[in-house]
Amino acid sequence: MVIFVFLKKIMMSTGILIFLLAAGIITGNDSKAKDLCGKRPRNIVLMIGDGMGLAQIYAGMTANHGHLNIERFKYTGLAKTWSATDYITDSGASGTAMATGQKTYNNAIGVGTDSLPCRSILEYAEDNGLFTGLIATSSIVHATPASFIAHQKHRNMYESIATDLVNSGIDVFIGGGRNYFEKRSDSINLTDSLIIRDYQIAYDTNELKMCKPGKIAAMLANNHLPSISEGRGNMFSLALDKAIGILSENNKGFFLMAEGSQIDWACHANDTNNIILELLDFDKAVGKALDFAARDKNTLVIVTADHETSGLALTNGDFQKGWVEMRFASHQHSGIPVPVFAYGPGAESFSGFYENTDIFQKMMQLFGFIH
Ligand code: MG
Ligand code: ZN
Repeated sequence: MVIFVFLKKIMMSTGILIFLLAAGIITGNDSKAKDLCGKRPRNIVLMIGDGMGLAQIYAGMTANHGHLNIERFKYTGLAKTWSATDYITDSGASGTAMATGQKTYNNAIGVGTDSLPCRSILEYAEDNGLFTGLIATSSIVHATPASFIAHQKHRNMYESIATDLVNSGIDVFIGGGRNYFEKRSDSINLTDSLIIRDYQIAYDTNELKMCKPGKIAAMLANNHLPSISEGRGNMFSLALDKAIGILSENNKGFFLMAEGSQIDWACHANDTNNIILELLDFDKAVGKALDFAARDKNTLVIVTADHETSGLALTNGDFQKGWVEMRFASHQHSGIPVPVFAYGPGAESFSGFYENTDIFQKMMQLFGFIH
C-alpha cells in the first residue's frame, strides 16, 4: 500500500513534470521568436537572382517536384524596381539601388543621376570593421557585383571597375573576369597589385578550396563562368561556403553579396531548360546560406532579384513529373515588382511592398550604420 502510494506520487509528479516541460518548451519557443523580433544581425548575406521573378522561382519549384530551399524563408515582401530614367530597369541601376539606396539611370554603376559616387552597403560595412565579400557566376566586374564595389558612369567600363575592385579593400571576391585584371588595354597587371595587397589568388575551384583564412581574389574564368548546362558544376555553392567560412572569422560581422547571374541570361534567351537549371543552382546555394544562418543565429539572409526578365508566364505544369510549360512576353527585362525573402534577425522588416532602394535602408538600419 505504501509502495503503491509512493509509485502513484511519482507518476503524478512525473505527469506534472511532463506537463510543465511541454508548457516550458512552448513558452521557450514563443519567447525565442519574440527575442528574434527587433534583434540586429551581425552578418548579412544578400543573394540576388538576376532576372528572377516569381514565375522563374515557381518554374524551378515545379521542376523540383514542388520544393525549393526558398520556401524556408519566414518573411516575404515585394520590391519595385523602376529606375530614375526608365519604367524597366537594367542591372546597373537596380544593383546600385539596392547597394546604395539611390535610384539612378540605367547603366550606372554605384553613381547617382549626377554621375557622382554613392557609398555602398559593402563600403559602409568595410568602414565599420566588418569583413566583405562578393560572388557572381558572371564576370565579377559585371553590373550586379560591380554596383556594390565600383563607381563608374557606365557598366561597360569593365577595366575601370576592376581597378575600383582592387582599390576597394574587399576581403573576398569570387567570379569570372580574369582578363579585366590581367589582359588590359593599359598593360597593367592588377593581379600583381592584388598579391602586394596580400590576396591569395585562385584561378579554379580547386585553388579556391585550398585558400586559407585571409583575403581571396578568385578569378575563375577569363570572362563569364560557363552556364550550368555548359559545365559550371558546383562552383556557386562552393564559393558561397568558402566565402562564409572565411568572412565569419570576424567577430564584428560580415556583408556578403552573392549573385546567381545567369538566370537572367537564360530568360533573355527564352531558354526554358536553362532557366530551371540556373534557378535550381541558385536555390542550392540559398540552402547553404540558410543552413549557416540557422546554425549561427546572428545572420540575416535576404534573397531577391534586381528585376524580372522575359515576362515569364507558366501556362501548365506537373509537380509529379517535374514538368512545366512556359511562355514569354519578350526577350527583355520586365517592370513587374520582384519578391524579397528574409530569414534571421531583422527579417520581419522585409515584409511589405517597398522600393528596391529600401533594401539598402533596411540593411543600414539593421547593421546600425549611420550615413
Ligand atoms: Mg547581374
Ligand atoms: Zn538582363
